[in-house]
Amino acid sequence: MIQKIEKEILEMLACPACRAAVSQAEVDGNSELVCAGCARRYPIQDGILVMLVEEARGGPATGDPGAATSRERSS
Ligand SMILES: [Zn+2]
Repeated sequence: MIQKIEKEILEMLACPACRAAVSQAEVDGNSELVCAGCARRYPIQDGILVMLVEEARGGPATGDPGAATSRERSS
């Protein structure tokens, strides 16, 4: 289910890692916020935006082992 974040709210948000602006994107049917600065992707889980660096996917040289296999679990 895609939740659209209000433009005004998006404009107030900033990446917690690098403070760059974020934009909303849909990936595999999931809504995420993508950072324009570091390319981290913040998930929106059950309509709740999770803007935590620890929960972000992608980004520069995080060494995140889940980054390459970030497909949603189908179990
Ligand atoms: Zn960032």
